[in-house]
Amino acid sequence: ATKEVRVEYEKPVDFTKVKKNLLPTVILVGRPNVGKSALFNRLIRRREALVYNTPDDHVTRDFRDGIAKLGDLRFRVLDSAGLETAASSGSILDRTAGMTASILARSQFAVFLIDVRAGLHPLDLEVGRWLRKHAPGINIVVAMNKSESLFDGSGSLAAAAAEAYRLGWGDPIAISAETGLGMQDLYGSLKPMLEDYMLSVLNNQENTDEGNFSDDSSCEIEDSKLPLQLAIVGKPNVGKSTLLNTLLQEERVLVGPEAGLTRDSIRAEFEFQGRTIYLVDTAGWLQRTKMEKGPSSLSIVQSRKSLMRAHVVALVLDAEEISKARRSMKHDEVVIARQAIEEGRGLVVVVNKMDLLKEQEICDNVMEAVPQEIQTVIPQVTGIPVVFISALEGRGQAAVMHQVIDTYEKWCSRLSTARLNRWLRKVMSRHSWKDQSAQPKVKYFTQVKARPPTFVAFVSGKKELSDTDIRFLKRSLKEDFDLGGIPIRIMQRNVP
Ligand code: GDP
Ligand code: GDP
Repeated sequence: ATKEVRVEYEKPVDFTKVKKNLLPTVILVGRPNVGKSALFNRLIRRREALVYNTPDDHVTRDFRDGIAKLGDLRFRVLDSAGLETAASSGSILDRTAGMTASILARSQFAVFLIDVRAGLHPLDLEVGRWLRKHAPGINIVVAMNKSESLFDGSGSLAAAAAEAYRLGWGDPIAISAETGLGMQDLYGSLKPMLEDYMLSVLNNQENTDEGNFSDDSSCEIEDSKLPLQLAIVGKPNVGKSTLLNTLLQEERVLVGPEAGLTRDSIRAEFEFQGRTIYLVDTAGWLQRTKMEKGPSSLSIVQSRKSLMRAHVVALVLDAEEISKARRSMKHDEVVIARQAIEEGRGLVVVVNKMDLLKEQEICDNVMEAVPQEIQTVIPQVTGIPVVFISALEGRGQAAVMHQVIDTYEKWCSRLSTARLNRWLRKVMSRHSWKDQSAQPKVKYFTQVKARPPTFVAFVSGKKELSDTDIRFLKRSLKEDFDLGGIPIRIMQRNVP
């Protein structure tokens, strides 16, 4: 299941530093009056009265072209509003035929808007056919616009989504171009696609055109299918190299820094069950452990550096030491574990050298004590995975990788605003609020970020959620969406 080790620079995408002519192009399509202009204006941050209010106005709007800002994403956005009004008769197909080729040829992506209040309209299906015919390879996000009712709970998301599915373009997202609700979900859908596109463009561009990249930017990549960055940390001699070599199934991990490359920018890469894993700073610690012969503590500073670059941190402990010391973690190990969680990384604890525990009873004790002790030192996250292995005997390394990948996927999860708000209504009735009259009302709940999952609770009035309330929300999120074992963040904002 493993492949060759390669050494590469890291290449995060920073859209703000990409030249405009290289940015991906997203065209907004849909029948008249679904809200294309409204969305266009929101994306280019122009809020003037560019949206016409009469459903059948015949004002000719030129198709508009602008640079969209959506979180840290930048892309060229085309508003095809002019397409339908360019001619006054005939079907959309006829009216747009002339302009189709040139505009669609410039777009790699489309946001296909429908009006959720009107349901699916015959013209929506016509737009769909038109796209299939003229842009068969284009990547499409279906956006159900005017979805205010889905966010405040008065409308049914399931019913709306079932309609939108009939278009045959997959999972729809709910947005409201006018109020800005759901922009996070639009971001979440576009980001992995745009990022993949940008990576391929920049990789091709690189040799000829330096300087489009910012090497030190820390832009986050949204998609859990993109390479996972794993840091294996632990004290010297706990078995990190041995574990790594069994993972790689060959002794090829010792890739030292080549001339001209800084040690920090080096990473080793391998594949596990079809998934690319980058080992963060591995060359660095391999060097260190060789140089620092025999020191008893791990370098907290170095480990901190590694974990800042990692998505998931595997902290390796020595089972024999644990059974002797009757303590799972030494001070330094506790510090690293806490730092990993505080920095919002996924954490997997690996207890190595289980083969050295000859008696069943000792084995059982260790297996029972470690998870408990971790829970005590990191009370803010429940269910941190612990894997017991023997790297030397080649037992358990696949389990380590499964936990690492599982943790990463949870860490990347993104829940749609509509889904979260349905959940919120249920969960609010479950919570026993201390003081009923002073009870803060959470109006909306939305995920603003993945990696790690970060949420904002919009609280009405000037009230504030207590720590108990926040803990309750976190616990409920973990239980209801299977997010145990990873750090979750909840912020609160007041809304009128
Ligand atoms: P276009 O023809 O597709 O460009 O649609 P417009 O952007 O001109 O919008 C058509 C109408 O829908 C206008 O009256 C907008 O005010 C309204 N509209 C656009 N977005 C929304 C939305 O998110 N919610 C609601 N309620 N109305 C919207
Ligand atoms: P590192 O400093 O964390 O990279 O640790 P190494 O991988 O170099 O291992 C340190 C020592 O522990 C070596 O002598 C290994 O052979 C030994 N070792 C590693 N894993 C195991 C294990 O699972 N069982 C036993 N008995 N010894 C191990």
